[in-house]
Amino acid sequence: MSQNTTPKAPKNNPATPASEAAGEHKVSNFLRQIIEKDLEQGTYASRRWAGTPGDAAHHAAGQPDPAKIRTRFPPEPNGYLHVGHAKSICLNFGLARDYGGVCHMRFDDTNPEKEDTEYVNSILDAVQWLGFGWEANGQSHLFQASDYFGFMYRAAEHLVQAGHAYVDEQTAEQMRAARGDFGKPGVDSPYRSRSAEENLARFREMRDGKHEDGSMVLRAKIDMASPNINLRDPAIYRIRRATHHNTGDTWCIYPMYTFAHPIEDALEQITHSICTLEFEDQRPFYDWLMERLTEGGLLAAPNPKQYEFARLNLTYVITSKRKLAQLVYDHKVSGWDDPRMPTIVGLRRRGYTPESIQLFAERIGVTKSDSWIDYSTLEGCLREDLENKAHRGMAVLDPVKLVLTNWAEAFGADDYTEDCTQPALPHSAIAEGQTPPPDRVFKIGKEVWIEREDFEEAPPKGYKRLFPGNVVRLKGGYVIECTGCARDATGTVLEVHAKVIPGTKSGTPGADSVKAKAAITWVSVASGVSAEVRLYDRLFSDPNPDAGGKDFIEALNPNSLKVVTAYVEPSLAAAKPDEKFQFERFGYFVADRVDHVAGGMPVFNRVTGLKDSWGK
Ligand code: ATP
Ligand code: MG
Repeated sequence: MSQNTTPKAPKNNPATPASEAAGEHKVSNFLRQIIEKDLEQGTYASRRWAGTPGDAAHHAAGQPDPAKIRTRFPPEPNGYLHVGHAKSICLNFGLARDYGGVCHMRFDDTNPEKEDTEYVNSILDAVQWLGFGWEANGQSHLFQASDYFGFMYRAAEHLVQAGHAYVDEQTAEQMRAARGDFGKPGVDSPYRSRSAEENLARFREMRDGKHEDGSMVLRAKIDMASPNINLRDPAIYRIRRATHHNTGDTWCIYPMYTFAHPIEDALEQITHSICTLEFEDQRPFYDWLMERLTEGGLLAAPNPKQYEFARLNLTYVITSKRKLAQLVYDHKVSGWDDPRMPTIVGLRRRGYTPESIQLFAERIGVTKSDSWIDYSTLEGCLREDLENKAHRGMAVLDPVKLVLTNWAEAFGADDYTEDCTQPALPHSAIAEGQTPPPDRVFKIGKEVWIEREDFEEAPPKGYKRLFPGNVVRLKGGYVIECTGCARDATGTVLEVHAKVIPGTKSGTPGADSVKAKAAITWVSVASGVSAEVRLYDRLFSDPNPDAGGKDFIEALNPNSLKVVTAYVEPSLAAAKPDEKFQFERFGYFVADRVDHVAGGMPVFNRVTGLKDSWGK
C-alpha cells in the first residue's frame, strides 16, 4: 500500500459552504457509472415494491418501485461507528439521494452474541447527525435482518429440498482439513451424498434443538474443487443456543453472514449492494445463492448485485472496532466519544461538522484499490467548512500580564476602560447579500493578557513582536511601545511593560499614524474570562499504528492531550455547547458538548490548527 496522493481540493468560492461545494464537484466514479448505465438500460425498471421487505410473491403484489435504485447501509450493531463507516454512509445514502433512489438503514443483527441496543441507538444517531435519513416516499426504511430469520430458514429448507444443501456432521477440524487450500482441491464430506429427505429431517432436528451446539452444520452443495475456496460447500447455518436481542430464544440455529446478507438484500429489493473489497471473493456465492432462490421462485428478479470498493484507511487512525474498544476499556481514552477517537461521536465532540465529513467522503472518492488517505485531508475539509462559518475570537493560551504603564497619564485614570470592536467574520467570509453577524465588543484597559511567547527581552533575529523599543499593535486596539519587563527571583517574566500610544486605535482616523511591526492577540484583564482549553493532538504518533501486526498501544502519542487555563474574550465565553470558533492565530476550537456549560467555566476543544503544521 502506498501513501496516498489525495486529489487536489477544488477551488471554492470563498463564501460557498463546503456542503454545496461538495455537491458542485461530484466526481464520477465506477459506482456512479454502473448506476447510470443501469438507469439508462432500465436494468431495474420492472421491479415492484410492496412497501415492506419480502419474497417474490410479496413484491409481485406491490406497486412499480417508486425508488429508481435501492442501496443500504448495513452495520452490525456491535460497536460505535467510525470514520470508515462515515465513508460508507455518505456513499450509500449519497448515491440514493443523487439518483432518485432510497437507502435502507439496516441492522445486520443475525449474530446473536455480539449485539446491543446501546449500539443501535448510537448508530441511528450518527447517521442522522451526518445528515441522512431513512424516510422516503412516505415510508420508513429502517430494517433489521433478524426479522428475516423465518424467510432465511425457509430458503435453507428450499436449498435442501432442491439438492443444493446438506447437513454435515464432521467436526470443524475435519471440515477445515477437507477444504484444501489454494493449491489443493477439497475432499468431499462423507455426508455430502445424503438424500434430500435425510438432510431435511436432520436440518429440522437442528432447528428443533435435538443436537448440540457445533455438532453439525448445514452446508451449501456447490463445488469442493472450486478455485474459489468460498465455493467449497460453505456453511450456511450453525447451531448456537444464544438469546437474540430481537428474537429471544425462538431459534437455536442461526444463518451464517455470507448466507444471510444476500437474502437481506434481495428481500429489501436492493439494486446495488455496495461493500468493501474483502467481500470480493464472496460475490460468486452471493450470485449463486440469488440464482438458486430466484429459480426456486422465492426471490424476485432482477436480483441485487454486489459491488466492492476500497475501505478507508486513514493515517494516524485505527478503524477496527475491536481495537477501538480496547482503547476505551483500557482507559487510554475517556470513552467512545473522546475527542481523539475516530468514532463519529468522537469526531463530533472534537468539533467536526457533518458538512466537513461529507466533503471528506466526496473528496477521497471511491476506488477499487486500497490506499492510505492522509489525516491532513480530513483536517483540511474541516478548515474549509469552518473558514466562512466559525466566528473569530481572541484567546490567550499561555498568559502573561502586559501592563500599559502610562495608561492613567494617557486616559486620566488607571481603571479607565474603552470598548474595542472587531468583526465576527472577515469580509471575505460574507457571501453577497448576506448580512454580516454583529461585531464582537471587548474592553481594553491598563492590563491585558498576552501570550508569553510574544515577549523576548533579547529577541532572536527577525523577531517582530514585543521587545524593548519595538512598536506593535494590540489587535483591534491601540499601538503600544514595549519598554521592558519585571522578573521574579528565578528569572521568569512576571509582567511585560509597554506604553500605549493614544490616538492609534484600530478603526479610528489615527489608526495608521504610527506604524506597528506586528499585531499581537490579547485579552483584557477587565473583560477576559478564564476557560479550560483542551489541546488535542493526534492519538498516535505513528502514521500506521496497527500495520504489520504492530502493538498499536505502543504507538500512542503521549502528548495527545494538554489542558491549559486560558483567557478568552467575552464573545467566546458566551459560547453555547458545540459552537465552533476560530481562535485567531491558533486554529479552530469548539465548546465541548459535554463539559461546557453556558454561563459556567467555558471548556473548549482544539479541533485543528489553522494550517497543516503537524510534524513541521
Ligand atoms: P469492524 O470489522 O471494525 O467490526 P465492519 O466492517 O465489520 O467493522 P460493519 O458494521 O459490518 O463493520 O460495517 C457496516 C458497513 O460499513 C459495511 O458495509 C462496511 O463495508 C462499511 N465499512 C466498515 N469499515 C469501513 C471502512 N474503513 N471504510 C469504508 N467502509 C467501511
Ligand atoms: Mg462486519
